[in-house]
Amino acid sequence: MIDLDETAREALETLREKGLLRRIRQTEALEGMLVRREGRALVNFSSNDYLGLARHPALIAAAGEAAMAHGAGAGASRLVTGDHPLYARLERRIAEVKGTEDAVVFGSGYLANVGTIPVLVGRGDLILADKFAHACILDGAQLSGADMLRFRHNDMAHLEEHLAAHRGRHRRCLIVTDGVFSMDGDLAPLPDILALARQYDAWVMTDDAHALGVVGQGENWGRGSGFAFDPVARADVQMGTLSKAVGAYGGYVAGSATLCDWLRNRARSLVYSTGLPPGVVAAASAALDIVTLDAGRVARPLMLARRLAGRLGLAEPASAILPLIVGDAEAAVAMARRLEDEGFLVAAIRPPTVPQGTARLRITLSAAHEEGQVDALADALTAMGLAR
Ligand SMILES: *Cc1c(COP(=O)(O)O)cnc(C)c1O
Repeated sequence: MIDLDETAREALETLREKGLLRRIRQTEALEGMLVRREGRALVNFSSNDYLGLARHPALIAAAGEAAMAHGAGAGASRLVTGDHPLYARLERRIAEVKGTEDAVVFGSGYLANVGTIPVLVGRGDLILADKFAHACILDGAQLSGADMLRFRHNDMAHLEEHLAAHRGRHRRCLIVTDGVFSMDGDLAPLPDILALARQYDAWVMTDDAHALGVVGQGENWGRGSGFAFDPVARADVQMGTLSKAVGAYGGYVAGSATLCDWLRNRARSLVYSTGLPPGVVAAASAALDIVTLDAGRVARPLMLARRLAGRLGLAEPASAILPLIVGDAEAAVAMARRLEDEGFLVAAIRPPTVPQGTARLRITLSAAHEEGQVDALADALTAMGLAR
C-alpha cells in the first residue's frame, strides 16, 4: 500500500528543503491598489489588474444585473445550453477591439491556450515556442502531441535556424509567443516573427495576457501587442485573457470567422467545460467599453511604469511590468519581505518560473496607483540599493 498522505508529506518536504515550498496567503482587496494581508494594509505592486477595473463600479453593476437577469451560473457547456445571450455581445466587442472577424470566449486564458493549440496542430506538426513563453502555452503544446522546439528568447536568428532545419519534415507549423512577456515585460518582435512565418509557411499565435488594455500606439492604444507596431502586426491567432487588464475572468481567441468556428467545434476545454457565469461575461463586456472609451486610463499603467523606471535609472519599459533582477532566489525573497515591512506588496519570482540565477522582484503598475505610491516605492527601492 502506498500511503497518500505519506507521499504528499515527502513531496512537500522535498520542496521545503529546496526553498520552493509555496503558501497561498489570504489577500483582501481594499480601496484602490491597497490590500490587507495578515491585518496590514499594503500597496499592491503585484496585481495584474492593470486598469484598476476589478473593483470598478460599472463592472460590479454589470455583474450584479446579469446575475439577477440570467442567474449565478451558466448551467452547462456553451454547446449545450450554457450560451446565455451575453456571450454574443462579449465576443463581438473582443473582435472589434482586436480588429478581427470574430472571437471565441473560453473559461480562462489557461483554458484558451490548452484548448486552442491542440486544435491547430497535432502529431506530425511542429510548434516553435519562445523560451520564455507562458506555462499554459507549453501545456497546450504538450497536449497537442506535436513536436515542440524552443527558440532563445526573442532570438530571431535562432527561430530561423529551427525553421530551416525542421520545418520541411513537418506538415503544419505554429510559432507561438507571449506578446508581452509576463516576467520580463518586453514585447515579442512580431513583425520579424510574421515575416519568418510567411517565408517558412507557418502560423503565428500570440498570447496577449499582459498586452490587452496596456500596450498599443496612438489611436490603437490598449488593443494589444500587435498594435504597438506600425504597421500593425497581425498574428493569425490572437489569444488573451479577460482576467488581467479587463478585470473580470475568462479567456479568448480572436481571429478569422472560420478559425473561431473551428475552435467552437473542436477545442476540448470549450466543449467539455461549463460556460462562464453571466455576471463574469457582463463585467468583461463593460470593461471593454471602458478600454475603448477611456484613453487616459489605458495610457496610465505604462506612464507609471516609465515614471518608476526613470526614478530608478532603468531603461524605458515597453509594458506595465518592470522586473528588477536580483539573481539569487533567497536574496529576492528577503527584499520582498523588507518591502512588505515598509508597506509594499512586491512579489519575488523564483525558478522554475524564471531561469536559474535570474530571481527577481516583479513590479506591475496599474492605472489605479497614485503617483505618490509609485514615488514612495521608488524611494524604498533606492534605499535598498536597487536603483542604478
Ligand atoms: C495569466 C496568463 C495566462 C492565463 O490566463 P488566465 O485567464 O489567468 O487563466 C496565460 N498566458 C499568460 C502569458 C499569462 O500571463
